[in-house]
Amino acid sequence: MQQIEIDLYSDTKTRPTQPMREAIAAAEVGDEQCQEDPSVERLLVRTGSLLEHEAAVFLPSGTMANQIAVLVHCRPGDELIAHESSHLILSEGGAPAALAGVMIRALQGPRGLFTREAVREAVRAGTRHNPTSRLVVVEQTANVGGGAVWPLDHMKQVVEEARTHNLSVHLDGARLMNASVASGLPAGTYSRMFDSVYVDFTKGLGAPFGAILTGSREFIKKAWRWKQRLGGSMRQAGMMAAACLYALDHHVGRLREDHENARCLADLLTGIAGIAVEPVDTNIVFFDVARLGISAETFNDALKLRGTRAGIFGPTRLRFVTHLDVSKEQIQRAAKIVAEVATGLKS
Ligand SMILES: *Cc1c(COP(=O)(O)O)cnc(C)c1O
Repeated sequence: MQQIEIDLYSDTKTRPTQPMREAIAAAEVGDEQCQEDPSVERLLVRTGSLLEHEAAVFLPSGTMANQIAVLVHCRPGDELIAHESSHLILSEGGAPAALAGVMIRALQGPRGLFTREAVREAVRAGTRHNPTSRLVVVEQTANVGGGAVWPLDHMKQVVEEARTHNLSVHLDGARLMNASVASGLPAGTYSRMFDSVYVDFTKGLGAPFGAILTGSREFIKKAWRWKQRLGGSMRQAGMMAAACLYALDHHVGRLREDHENARCLADLLTGIAGIAVEPVDTNIVFFDVARLGISAETFNDALKLRGTRAGIFGPTRLRFVTHLDVSKEQIQRAAKIVAEVATGLKS
């Protein structure tokens, strides 16, 4: 493996900082499965109040959080509505079909967003011939949509439309805190309109572990049963919760730096011939190398040889994600490497 000095593959690449490791080492712990872990309980109360929901449950991963939400909201044969580029459809191993027996209605729309009209048109008629429309899933920020922030009014309209048809609404808020920092709106302003919300601690927040699912007390009671069934109940998980608490104290406000770095990176890439840069809202920068006449893979291989890397999201589409472990200076260096590679590889 090549040495990757500037890892822009994802904001999951962060390693716990020294003070975070100290918080982990000092954590008060108990048996999480019996709800006796004081650090986990503290994190749940804090996150529930941040997201303006009654109750919360701690989970090992975001995928488990999303899938438990699907399992609680839906019955086999139901249909869920989500954007075609959503994590739930693209990156969770086909779990809605494999675990919940749920059908998917995938919507289109620019930047990972869809409209209330698209929801209206997707809802099934409700005859015995149809699957039953049951759930709408919104992703904030829309990752593969370019880290796009759903504007509050747009989101409200989609949720209102879902309510009109008696559908449940779930928010995949893996990067909800990025949306909150970018828009200046409290996370709860987005989350409280949903029946269930998942937030992640291993993305921009820089913890090594942890996702939280929130909702009503009744929803979380059902979620706990699925957590037990799926093997997500834990023991001294306070060590992980301590990292998440540390992240809430120290790593939320600083997301602003990641956003500035992403914008700076996008500006620098825009000046490079043959690179088409997509709009940037938060910490994600998508770009396309089609005009260089080479593949995303070839381009990324050349980046890796020079100590940096992107994620690949199509034949010629790549993604950079800024995070805690990438400095402003490294962003400038990464842009120089892109320029070098673009010049060297032009066919
Ligand atoms: C990372 C992510 C998830 C959860 O993925 P895990 O790998 O299980 O942590 C869900 N939704 C989005 C939008 C994500 O970026």
